[in-house]
Amino acid sequence: MGVNPININLKENLFNVEEKIEKSLLKVGRKDKVELIAVTKTQPIENVKSIIDLGVKNIGENRVQELVQRVEEIGQVVDYHMIGHLQSNKVKDIIDNIRLLHSLDRMSLVKELNKRSKMRNKVIDVLIQVNVAEEMSKFGFKVSDVIPFIEQVVGYEHIRIKGLMTMAPFTDDELLLRKVFKTMYNLKEDISKRNYQHISMEFLSMGMTNDYEIAIEEGSNMVRVGTGIFGERY
Ligand SMILES: *Cc1c(COP(=O)(O)O)cnc(C)c1O
Repeated sequence: MGVNPININLKENLFNVEEKIEKSLLKVGRKDKVELIAVTKTQPIENVKSIIDLGVKNIGENRVQELVQRVEEIGQVVDYHMIGHLQSNKVKDIIDNIRLLHSLDRMSLVKELNKRSKMRNKVIDVLIQVNVAEEMSKFGFKVSDVIPFIEQVVGYEHIRIKGLMTMAPFTDDELLLRKVFKTMYNLKEDISKRNYQHISMEFLSMGMTNDYEIAIEEGSNMVRVGTGIFGERY
């Protein structure tokens, strides 16, 4: 079998991303770890398998149908992350397959998640999506709505809030990006201090191809990178 040239690029791209993650941690003197979630949306299965062979452990998809397809094709040899807006009627399709839902963005979804997890006698781990810059095009809570929302969710026993997620505005404005990420970090710290039962702030999921290094410098410990590994989506 010949060497697929695509795989060579993937290897180099992945290595570069991993190296930049380490450099960003070093730059701010962090000794903890960052988890890399490879966002595989629209990628052919060969590419997904290649990066798994290269050691990737976490796969992110933003659509239920694609996520379910990945699970069927690849199986539970990696962890799956649902990172996109989730319709309530699709909860049942992914509840058994994901390690983490990054996009809890409304109360009605809590009810469905809790109901479906309870039926399966399990607990689902979720992150609350925050729309820090209050962009019309994005889902997620306003910063000021997050704590009131958590106080409503505390009683749902089949859901565990494990942290926060955001998508920063797509911009080169580094100051704006830092401001968004700092706001997230401070919110996470504030929530941690409140010691809510069953709620931890273990994960801060922020940083995509455009901004993951800055996000790490500002405290992210989960980055979701697609283009940086696979190139422009086609
Ligand atoms: C597509 C997507 C990403 C990855 O974006 P890239 O810019 O390709 O790295 C991360 N998070 C979410 C929620 C996405 O939909």
